[in-house]
Amino acid sequence: MKQNPVLVISGPSGVGKGTVIAALLALHPEYGWSVSCTTRPIRPGEVNGKDYYFLSQSEFFKKQQAGDFAEWALVHGNHYGTSRSELLEKQSRYRVVIVEVDVQGAQALKTSGVLLKSIFLLPPDLETLAQRLDKRGTETEASFKKRLQNSADEIKMKDQFDYQVVSLTVPKTVAHIESIIEREFGI
Ligand code: 5GP
Repeated sequence: MKQNPVLVISGPSGVGKGTVIAALLALHPEYGWSVSCTTRPIRPGEVNGKDYYFLSQSEFFKKQQAGDFAEWALVHGNHYGTSRSELLEKQSRYRVVIVEVDVQGAQALKTSGVLLKSIFLLPPDLETLAQRLDKRGTETEASFKKRLQNSADEIKMKDQFDYQVVSLTVPKTVAHIESIIEREFGI
């Protein structure tokens, strides 16, 4: 059976990926979300199994050894990975499956043969990115600095993605992504 490509969304920390993806999923019951695994500590308001599968280091490495990751990467000091079984399960239920990964993850998924279309979300400028990340209030001083420093490197990779979308207001960004999905997935 022909499998639909997955929709990979990447972008620097604080650009608004989470908000935009949540809005897309709320508007479109036909879109699914591949829940990643991470060793990062859970943030207030996050739900295990919905936002991420929050794993200990040893649980994460067990899954890695078992070959259950389509890709995995060390991002801002924590491990993140896309579970093959999660991805396949969601692909069997949804025409469009959104996968949020960092730039290394997007590259690794492509190399591993996962059929995908990719979008890189860009901030209007770096100052706005810093303000958004600060306003989110989820990071320690050290993590905030690390995430901002990594942003410049991530943005350099934007041309490796099929689409670059500037993250303006949430409704504008959502509409832009919907138009890409319509073109690429025919729905
Ligand atoms: P956060 O800790 O803010 O939720 O995510 C940090 C970074 O990890 C973001 O760039 C996000 O896209 C990336 N990320 C989330 N899940 C995965 C995954 O499964 N694989 C990879 N490679 N990166 C991920």
